[in-house]
Amino acid sequence: MFIKLALCNLIYASTFNMIFNHYIEKLPIASHKDIMITYLTHNIVQISLIIELGLFIFYIYDLVNYHNKISNAFIIVLTAVFSILELTSIKTHVGFYINDEKAYQYGITNIFLVWYIIFLSIFTITIISKNRVIINKIYFTVGITFFISILIMFFQYIKNIETFTNFTFLLPIMVIIFIFHSNSYNTNFGALDRTALANSINDLKKKNKSFAFVYIKIPNFNEIATDNKTTQDYKQFTKYMQYRNYLFRYNDDTFVMTFDNDFDYELMEKLFNDLHSKYQMSHNVIIILNNNICNTLVDYIDLCEDIEKQANSSFYILNNDDLINFSKILKIKKELEDIANQKNFNDERVLVYCQPILDTKLNKFTTAESLMRLKLNGLGIIYPDVFIPLAEKNNNIHILTCIILNKVCKFIEKNPEITRISVNFSMYEITNPKFYHDIYNIISKYHFDLNKLGFEITETVEAKDFDIINDTLQRFRNLGIKIYLDDFGTGYSNIEHITKIPIDIIKFDRSLVISSGQSEKSKYIVSNMSDIFYNTNYNILYEGIEDNNDEHRCMGMNAEYLQGYKYSKPIPIEELSKFINQQP
Ligand code: C2E
Ligand code: CA
Ligand code: CA
Repeated sequence: MFIKLALCNLIYASTFNMIFNHYIEKLPIASHKDIMITYLTHNIVQISLIIELGLFIFYIYDLVNYHNKISNAFIIVLTAVFSILELTSIKTHVGFYINDEKAYQYGITNIFLVWYIIFLSIFTITIISKNRVIINKIYFTVGITFFISILIMFFQYIKNIETFTNFTFLLPIMVIIFIFHSNSYNTNFGALDRTALANSINDLKKKNKSFAFVYIKIPNFNEIATDNKTTQDYKQFTKYMQYRNYLFRYNDDTFVMTFDNDFDYELMEKLFNDLHSKYQMSHNVIIILNNNICNTLVDYIDLCEDIEKQANSSFYILNNDDLINFSKILKIKKELEDIANQKNFNDERVLVYCQPILDTKLNKFTTAESLMRLKLNGLGIIYPDVFIPLAEKNNNIHILTCIILNKVCKFIEKNPEITRISVNFSMYEITNPKFYHDIYNIISKYHFDLNKLGFEITETVEAKDFDIINDTLQRFRNLGIKIYLDDFGTGYSNIEHITKIPIDIIKFDRSLVISSGQSEKSKYIVSNMSDIFYNTNYNILYEGIEDNNDEHRCMGMNAEYLQGYKYSKPIPIEELSKFINQQP
């Protein structure tokens, strides 16, 4: 801020004095006093310009996060030397001077021109060596502006005028201030933004440079770091780690720094801990050393978010296993993407497993729940806890649902002995306006009574989506499809919602089965809940029945259906008929 202010003031001062200077130079020099005024105004112009350039170098250093005491001292000394040369030119006759009522100020003796050439060299070296944090747009614009400026200077030099000198410095400075700040540079924090980060990662990868990626998450950073002091402290922290590092702000509370591979992460951990004990902030730092598995910023961030969920230390350096694991996830992501692009409802990579469900009244397995698995080349069978969250995050879940639904419908049509198979839906897809249409298109290809089909949904907390979901489910239910409320007893159970959603069967989650076996009090609660639902005409299904105790307890709590490993693990859908037909 100080630099910017000083820069602007100096530009005004030098411009004003240059105009004044021109005016004076036009007058015949009559007296000693006039000569002094000419010297004075000329010196104000020249020295302002000299200091402007010095400040401008600092400004650029700050933008690219370059902090080096020796370089800073060098600039200060040069600025001072050139200013003093200018100031003393009246005596030394180096630079501008007046002799025999004639002013001499051009050629090699023009001090400012020499300083300007040095400035240009420093500027060029800085932006080239720090190119990682400067996006191409900036290079391009800065290049053009300097070219124009130098052209103007050149013509001025030939024509022996200096009317536009100030403009030539003003232009690049203004352009740079504008472009740096309009772009990816976050002025408040001294960090570059997400676009700059993405560019920087792409660039490093393209040039095959080895680097470390440091992910820093400080929850609610904006609320904590409201005062300047805290922000400055954090900025200071990044300066400590100075040697060739870059600070980026990924979002409100996530920062990223990139380092040369061999940086001192023990020092970093210590600094971080100091800072955090001072401000009592929680933080997560994840360090990913150079690797060939992450290729884009998205990969890096996905990996960090993944690790964040599991890591139990606030300062974590990724190991080889983590990376191998993540390379698997990337492969799965790619396959999911491919499945979504191919839109083949018979895709062979999507497997349908079924877990038979016991009808307690008939004491027979008549229905089943379909459960998805992926069979991927080189990775084997992948379970839903791994790929469902990935598919949901990357918007590929809907196509998977369509595939499994299509396969289930095909199976029901061919196997009339099955009473019903339920399919799981993700809450992320139901709100999609195309959802009803897509699903309806699939089921209408087959010919069987639609009460042979069940849809399993979980409760949603989002009140705004409630009406859409409710409406969609009602339309399916009108076709005869049975609606299951999945995982009841986990998360939020909103009684008002439950009574409004058209539900046929409530699936009590395994956690309720477990807790009802742990204490009398829990059993009392679960048992009474089951009474309430039973008396309001819902069918109750208990999930996760693993042994005789579970079975016995649930039978005493209005169980219409039982499902769990005690009876069968999920089996490939092709084996389901055999399982059902083998019953006595
Ligand atoms: P869910 O819908 O609650 O499915 C029941 C899960 O519990 C299944 O795990 C099943 O194998 C497991 N399970 C069954 N009996 C027992 C038992 O006695 N004890 C224990 N501990 N577990 C039992 P799975 O197949 O790994 O599926 C996990 C979750 O993935 C499912 O939970 C469901 O939320 C999701 N999922 C599976 N298939 C699909 C699908 O086709 N679409 C969507 N959207 N989600 C699916
Ligand atoms: Ca389910
Ligand atoms: Ca469940």
